Amino acid sequence: MNAIIFGAPGSGKGTYASRLQAKLGLTVIAMGDIFRETVKQETELGKKVKGYVEKGLLVPDDIVIEVLKEHVAKVPEGKGFLLDGFPRTLDQAKVLEKIAKIDVIILLMVPDWIIVERLSTRRICHNCGAVYNTRFLKPKVDMVCDKCGGPLYQRPDDTPEVIKKRIEVYEAQTRPILQFFREGTVPFVVASCDALDTPPEKVVDAIMKDLRELSLA
Ligand code: ADP
Ligand code: ZN
Repeated sequence: MNAIIFGAPGSGKGTYASRLQAKLGLTVIAMGDIFRETVKQETELGKKVKGYVEKGLLVPDDIVIEVLKEHVAKVPEGKGFLLDGFPRTLDQAKVLEKIAKIDVIILLMVPDWIIVERLSTRRICHNCGAVYNTRFLKPKVDMVCDKCGGPLYQRPDDTPEVIKKRIEVYEAQTRPILQFFREGTVPFVVASCDALDTPPEKVVDAIMKDLRELSLA
């Protein structure tokens, strides 16, 4: 099965994707993680995308699409993938149709106030990318990853100004893709979260239940 996990910044895409990966045996392709890694490694690609990522702007489509193709090509034979952070523009969505068959779109519905609260309290493991939150998803030891013992940090684009920009960009460029998806034939699984303290497992269980109803899990 190939799936897209779709939602605003801070809607929990990465958090649920890592849990779904374990349950479904999918390869997660997380665009934001890929770009952050290339920026850290200071590769040619990293130098090109750094400015966009830091400002909360979208990396140009031609670059993103190239990167996506490379990663899709690396998915092991017979295994499916889960896209986190792609597509983010209508052109990306249209190109995707030509690259692979998508079986389901997992749509995350989260109110704005939760998004802002979550992003500003988010902490990430430097080593394995696991996501925590200083209020509701605390690590056992302060600023240390439960899974691998790596140090936690705050993403540089999780500052109030950049968060605001990312939400604006989502509203202007990414949310409109939903209409395009709705006109297509790929089924949706909708997961909503309306409290800050909803445990990720609860949301993931609801997604799994809907996937089973569609005979996809
Ligand atoms: P978020 O938490 O906002 O969902 P991500 O980690 O998915 O963030 O992405 C971080 C940044 O990486 C984005 O703000 C953008 O600059 C860049 N990026 C990620 N995916 C894409 C994409 N599909 N198209 C353009 N830019 C992207
Ligand atoms: Zn870790």
